[in-house]
This record gives sequence, C-alpha cells and structure tokens, in this order.
Amino acid sequence: MSIVTTKELLADAKARHYAVAAFNTNNLEYTQAILEAATEMKSPVIIEAAKSEIDYMNGFTFVAMVRTLSDKLPINVAIHLDHGPSYDEAVRCLNYGFTSVMYDGSRLSLDENIRNTQKVVEAAHACGVSVEGEIGVIGQAADSPEGKKGESDALASPVDCERFVKESGVDCFAAAIGNAHGLYTKKPKLDFDRLSDIERRTHVPLVLHGGTGIPLEDIKKAISLGVAKINFSTIMRQGFIETLRKTLEENPGDLDLMKLLTPSKLAMKAIAIQHLKMCGSDGKA
Ligand SMILES: [Zn+2]
Repeated sequence: MSIVTTKELLADAKARHYAVAAFNTNNLEYTQAILEAATEMKSPVIIEAAKSEIDYMNGFTFVAMVRTLSDKLPINVAIHLDHGPSYDEAVRCLNYGFTSVMYDGSRLSLDENIRNTQKVVEAAHACGVSVEGEIGVIGQAADSPEGKKGESDALASPVDCERFVKESGVDCFAAAIGNAHGLYTKKPKLDFDRLSDIERRTHVPLVLHGGTGIPLEDIKKAISLGVAKINFSTIMRQGFIETLRKTLEENPGDLDLMKLLTPSKLAMKAIAIQHLKMCGSDGKA
C-alpha cells in the first residue's frame, strides 16, 4: 500500500488489539528480510534505525532503499528514527524523508525532556511526521545501537508520563517498565500494574522497547494494556550472525558474497515472521 506514519499504524493497532513490530536495520539484506516477512504475513511494519545505523547507511540511502523496496507491496510501512538523541538529529531525519521520529530525552530532567520533545513535536508535526518520546530509562542488557551495557535504568513514573504526554504533544511514547535492550540474562519482569496506570493516565499508544526475549504471554498482556509498538533488534542480528558463522564454516573458500549472505537473510526473515505473529499483526495489513 504505502509509506505511512507510525501514528496511523498505531491507531489501527490499538483499536484492533495488536502491536506493530518495529525492526531496526542497517543494510540491504536486513531490510529485505523485514519487508519479505511482513509481506508474507500481510502485516504492517515499522522499519527503524538508530543514529549509529543511519550514519552507517546514510539517511538518504536508507529512506530511498525502504521506499524502493516497499513500492507496490500490499502492506503499510513506516520509516522511523529510533532513540533520536537530539532535536538536530530529528530534523535531519525529517529532511531525509522519515515518517516518524523518536526523541529520547529520558536521561534529562522531566522539564527538560518535555521542553525538547515539544520542540521536536512542533517541527515533526509541521511535516506530517509522528513523534515517539521516552519516559524512565530503559536499561541495557548488552551493548547495542541503542546504548552501552550497564547504563542505569529507572522505571517510568505514571504521574510523570501523564504530564509528559499532555505537555509535549507526543503521538506515542516508550515507558520503562522493567524491559531492557539486548539479551536478558534472566526472565524480564515487566511491571504490568505500572503499565496499566500509565495507560489509564495517558491514552496514547505505548511502545515497548527491548522486545527480544520477552515471553509471548507477557507480549500479549502488554498489548492488552495499551502497547501498540514493540521493538525487536537483538534477536534479528543474533540470527543473522549465527547463520553467517555456520555458512562460512560450511563453505570455506567460497567468495560469492550473495550466496553467503542469503541464508542469513532467510534466518532473519523467519525470525521476523515469528515476531510479527507474536504481535498479532499478521493479516492486519
Ligand atoms: Zn530502544
């Protein structure tokens, strides 16, 4: 169908009780895997990139790649900035042609976070682009494009969330509720009472970061409490790298890069299909 905003995707997800999976990308095979999976599942999808990934690909290259690959697909796709570190980065992404940007001011004071997010909302909304904010600090179970391992975390205060949404004007936001980026070393313990209080006070679609390793029953419960976007990154990279290692061991001396990368792409596609189903977005395009 077309390239749309996350606001549009999340409104439908919330109304029909599923979540839209958001997958990070940083190259062609990764992006093809996501779009092939979503097309096969007839699922809407969000393709996102953090600043380091955008710098690696070049923002214009990234957007052109997603738009070209999505052209004439029977699904809706949003192009999103993950964990935008500044107003300037958000504006750069508006210029690249993103349809959605995240501003992550979660490490600032609430007042400063609101002030900066509000500025991003003003610029993005003027371009018809939606904005995701963040409250509380989502921890790092491992190093990833989103941050460094061991960075401190803090759960989101529902009262702060209420004020944040009202004053910043965000379309959706990520609240730290015990989730973390990277691979969990033990089963994550999500604070569902907190999530439900946050939903009751804000009414905007909620975003769950660190989706890798969250069990299906917790994903379902989170969706029932207002989560409409779930980010998956680590699990995709893990599938790609493990398969690549195996392919290289099995094909010593092979110099056909396309042949060597294809099994990794297919592994990523299978993982994406599994997570689209976990989100209940299959058949919702
Ligand atoms: Zn994140």
